[in-house]
Amino acid sequence: MGGFSDVRFEPPPEDVDEHDFYKAEAMATYLRKYVQVHEYAGFTMNDRIHFGAEVISVEACLEGWRIFYTSNGNATNITSHKLIVATGSTSVPNMPDLPNQQDFGGPIIHTLDYGRSKFYESDDIKSVAVIGGGKSAADMVYMNVKLGRSVKWIIRSSGKGPGAFLNVKLRFASIRNAGDLAYVRFAASILTLPGLQPASYWQRFLYSTRIGSWVFNKFNVFLNNQLVVNARYDDRPGAMETFKELKSNIDAMALESPTGIQHHDDFWDVIAKNVDVYRKDIAHLKKGKIVFTDNVSIEADAILCGTGFKDTVPFFTEKQRVHFGLPHAISAEAVEMQREWKRLNIEAERKVTRRFYSITSRPAIPPVDRLGDVSLTETPFRLYSGIAPLTASGAHNLAFVGFATLTNMFASSEVSAIWATAYLDGNIKLPNEEQMKQDIAYVTTYMRMRCPTYGRAGNYYIFDYHQFIDRLMDQVGLQNYSKGLWRDWTEPLVMADFQALKDEYVEKHGSVRD
Ligand SMILES: Cc1cc2nc3c(=O)[nH]c(=O)nc-3n(C[C@H](O)[C@H](O)[C@H](O)COP(=O)(O)OP(=O)(O)OC[C@H]3O[C@@H](n4cnc5c(N)ncnc54)[C@H](O)[C@@H]3O)c2cc1C
Repeated sequence: MGGFSDVRFEPPPEDVDEHDFYKAEAMATYLRKYVQVHEYAGFTMNDRIHFGAEVISVEACLEGWRIFYTSNGNATNITSHKLIVATGSTSVPNMPDLPNQQDFGGPIIHTLDYGRSKFYESDDIKSVAVIGGGKSAADMVYMNVKLGRSVKWIIRSSGKGPGAFLNVKLRFASIRNAGDLAYVRFAASILTLPGLQPASYWQRFLYSTRIGSWVFNKFNVFLNNQLVVNARYDDRPGAMETFKELKSNIDAMALESPTGIQHHDDFWDVIAKNVDVYRKDIAHLKKGKIVFTDNVSIEADAILCGTGFKDTVPFFTEKQRVHFGLPHAISAEAVEMQREWKRLNIEAERKVTRRFYSITSRPAIPPVDRLGDVSLTETPFRLYSGIAPLTASGAHNLAFVGFATLTNMFASSEVSAIWATAYLDGNIKLPNEEQMKQDIAYVTTYMRMRCPTYGRAGNYYIFDYHQFIDRLMDQVGLQNYSKGLWRDWTEPLVMADFQALKDEYVEKHGSVRD
C-alpha cells in the first residue's frame, strides 16, 4: 500500500511487523530517496524544492498565478502559468479551545509536533492527559502508558465520540491484514457498500427488497459488532471503572466516529488496566490542572492533543475560497449563489435517496451539541472530481491534489496527480458548468447523507476507493491498472498496479515532455 508505483517501497525487514505494517522512519527514508532518484534535465526533484519557504498568498495575474512566499524569513514571489496546490490535509492542526492555557505551565503538544518534540524522551513528565477520540490519541495514550507514565484520556462529550479500533489480525489468500480488506473490490462491495457507482445486483437486492433490507440490517449489526467486539468494554477482566466510557457508537455503514486499526495485541488490556477515561468537555486550564465544565478537575504535567487537522488551504482569502469551491462560510456567498446551491442540493438529495436509501434509513445527523468541530454553516469542498475548481476550469490552470480522503492516500495522490496533469494539459474533456455543478452536488450530498460528520467536508471517499480511482482513470482514458476480472475482484488494488499508467498516458496523449 505504501510508496508510489514508480519506485518500490521496500522497507528493511526489521522495520516491518508481523502484520506487514512498517515504521514511520522507513517511509521518511523512502521519501528522501524518491526525490533524489527522479532527475529531469539535470535537476532532481530534491533540487527543485524550495525548502524553508512558506506560501502566504496567491493571486491571479496575466501569466497565470503570482505566488507570494517567505523564504527563510524574506518576502519574495514567483509567477507560474499553472498551479497545483498539494498542501495536504494534515498541515493545519485543529487545536482544542483551552482557555487560560498560559497558566498551565507544562507542554501542550499536537500530534503534528509529537514526534519531533522528542516528548517521549523527557524524564520530567510523570503524568499526561491525552485529548481526542481517534487513532492519533489512542497511539499516544498507549505509548505513554508503555513509557510508565500515568495517563488520562479525555474525549469530549460534545464530539463524535470514541473511535472503534479493528483488530489487525486477518490473513487469508491475498489478504495480509485487516487494512487490506478495503482494497479488495469484492470485499469492499459487501463490507462498505460503496455508493458512487451504478447500483450492483447485490445493492439493489439489499436496498430495494424486503428480504434484502432484513439481510442488510442483520449484516450491519454483525459488522458493528465486529468493530467493537475485541475491546470487551463491558466485561474485560481487570478493567478500570471508566473503561466503559470508551464504548464506541460506530455504525459501519456510516463511519461517523473515528476508526482505525488496533496494531498491538495488548492495546485494550493496557488501556483498560491503566488509563482513566473522561468523557467531558474542558472549561479551562489552571497551573498543572485541567478543569472540566462540571467543575471536576484533574492534574497533568503535559497535555497531548490528538485532535486532528483543519480541512483548509491556509493562504487563500475567503473570496478565493468561495470562487474556487474550497470550504467557506455559506454567509460569504452572494444570495444568488446560496440559492443556486440550495436548489442543486435538493435535487441531489432526491437522487441520492432514490439511489441509495430506498428502504434503509439514512444515518441521523447527530444533534448539534454532538458534532464537535463539524460546522453546519460551512460549505463542503466543491471541486470537480475532487480536484478542479469550477471557476478556473475554463482556464485549466489550477488543480488541488491530495484533498480527496481515501483509505490509501498514496493512491489518492498518484491517481489525482495523473488526472491533474491531464486536466492542466487540456487532455480531459469536461462537461458543461451546470453538469459539473450537478455532479459536485450529487457527490457531496451523498457523502453528507451517508456520513453526517466527516462526510460533510465533501471529500470523504472512504467507502469509494475503487470508484474514485475508476472514475478518474476513466475520465483520462486509462485502463492499465486492471489485473483481469477475477484478480481485480479478489486481490487488493495496490500501488504497484498503477505502474503502467504513466506510459499509457504518454502513449495516449502524446506528451513526452519531462
Ligand atoms: C499520524 C498520521 C498517520 C497517517 N497514516 C497514514 C497511513 O497509514 N496511510 C495513509 O495512506 N495515509 C496516512 N496518513 C495520511 C498521510 O500522511 C497524508 O495523507 C499524506 O501525507 C498526504 O500527503 P500530501 O503530500 O498530500 O500532504 P502533506 O504530507 O501534508 O504535505 C503537504 C506539504 O505542504 C506544506 N505546506 C503546507 N502549507 C504550506 C504553505 N503555506 N507554504 C508552503 N508549504 C506548505 C507542508 O509543510 C507539507 O510539506 C497519516 C497521517 C497522519 C497525520
